[in-house]
Amino acid sequence: MSENNLIPLSEFPLKVEIAVIGSGPGGAITACLLAEAGRDVLLIEEGADLPLESCEPFSVAEMVQKYRNGGLTAAFGQPKIQYVEGRCVGGGSEINSGLYHRTPPDILAQWSQEFEVDALTESDLIPHFEACEQAVNVCYLPGKAPTASLKLHEGAISLGWQSLEVPRWFRYQELDETAVPKGTRQSMTKTFIPRALKAGCKLLANTRIKTLHQTDQIWSLTGSCKRNNHLQEPIKIQAETVFICCGAIQTPALLRRSGIKNNIGNSLKMHPTVKIIAQFDQEINSLDMGVPVHQVKEFAPRFSFGCSISSPPYLSVGITDYPEYTEEVQKNWQNMGIYYAMITGEGYGTVRNIPFYNDPLVRYKLTSQDLKDLSEALQKLALLLFEVDAKILYPSISNSSPLTHPQDLTKIPAHLPVKQTNLMTVHVFSSCPMGENLQKCAVDSFGKVHGFNNLYIADGSLLCTAPGVNPQGSIMAIARRNVLQFLGKL
Ligand SMILES: Cc1cc2nc3c(=O)[nH]c(=O)nc-3n(C[C@H](O)[C@H](O)[C@H](O)COP(=O)(O)OP(=O)(O)OC[C@H]3O[C@@H](n4cnc5c(N)ncnc54)[C@H](O)[C@@H]3O)c2cc1C
Repeated sequence: MSENNLIPLSEFPLKVEIAVIGSGPGGAITACLLAEAGRDVLLIEEGADLPLESCEPFSVAEMVQKYRNGGLTAAFGQPKIQYVEGRCVGGGSEINSGLYHRTPPDILAQWSQEFEVDALTESDLIPHFEACEQAVNVCYLPGKAPTASLKLHEGAISLGWQSLEVPRWFRYQELDETAVPKGTRQSMTKTFIPRALKAGCKLLANTRIKTLHQTDQIWSLTGSCKRNNHLQEPIKIQAETVFICCGAIQTPALLRRSGIKNNIGNSLKMHPTVKIIAQFDQEINSLDMGVPVHQVKEFAPRFSFGCSISSPPYLSVGITDYPEYTEEVQKNWQNMGIYYAMITGEGYGTVRNIPFYNDPLVRYKLTSQDLKDLSEALQKLALLLFEVDAKILYPSISNSSPLTHPQDLTKIPAHLPVKQTNLMTVHVFSSCPMGENLQKCAVDSFGKVHGFNNLYIADGSLLCTAPGVNPQGSIMAIARRNVLQFLGKL
């Protein structure tokens, strides 16, 4: 834990011009551009301030250090959906795969029309996409992609489906073309947060804001700060303007705890995701495999496929749907990879607080069509994997048998069984949508909370619906657009 972010308790209640709560991509970009414009900014983060290198990427240690509740968080519904959130300085950007997409233009058009968002066409966003891509060094792999990733690509090409390499925010080391490319993820602690600090922004880590309220145009934030002895010290902060950037689950939870509820936490969206472990006759996995970069977009936005992190601990957890095959992972993990099918879906969820608990209750209701889309996506993904000679497929459906032949695809029910299907997601958004449509939107077209002065949201909550692509590119560009509008510089 870094000591230099502990502001002495004697300085509280702190008075600042602008408080930014949450330091993920939305908060980090907002704080950075405000500080660079000469504003007095305090960036407040619930999690610890840890260097990117404090643990191995995608390790169990990383989950313990940087994930909320060690990654054990679920949205209740039938079936439950396991989701994860980062909780550290830099938020989700410190733990994610760095796969970058711009928001698809048809999704932007849908948001503009249905939610009445001003100035959100592709050409409005291009300067923000370009600036963020440069700041986090979005680039393609300089060498060979991991074999497990190439398998997905080859299967898609063989079936005549569209498959692409997705660029990442990454700085690769110079290597010869045959080696697995290595380098550094360009997370917020490598990019916007050092820039913010250099411009004079103060960072207060280990500090959770519990509620906020406004009197005489000043916002009072109350919360607690974890000190070295792990005591939670109560703290108070006063700010003229507040940006809430706590992510799509915690932002509505904080607002609702503070009595601000209009269109807040009623329309949570995710990309519900079903997985398949595929076992091949030859090696496709290795300890230095890194992040697979291919995605199949033939059926997008309804559903897309990709290859996940497939390290031995991830495979061990994945095979728990087939307890009798646990040893297979120990013996043959080099021949195994984890693949996923994610849907955009029609379902939605809610975020509600429960008295006496820190964490909100998250519910998510999948529709019957969602369960059909998941089934169709799973069948098509399995078809693709058999096309590239997978020998055994273990879909994430408990109490079922592994698939060993293309004819087994008929065993996948047309409507995935709610009690046996295990779903997860790493993409959550849309819990406080932006726009001028007052029936649906929590904030205006640029993130100002409807009906409140000097209160803004700048994170994944603003995305009006599921974008159908990895969301951080959209979150970064919209945060940049909105903070420039706030500064009068758009
Ligand atoms: C494992 C994983 C892999 C992913 N892979 C990709 C990918 O490849 N590409 C992609 O585009 N996206 C990916 N994502 C999603 C991406 O990381 C998120 O969409 C993005 O981080 C969301 O940004 P945000 O600013 O909305 O919030 P977050 O990144 O969630 O940041 C919110 C921050 O606010 C803090 N906070 C919350 N409540 C409080 C409070 N009350 N007081 C103070 N601080 C608070 C949290 O601790 C957190 O650090 C992935 C996510 C995960 C978890």
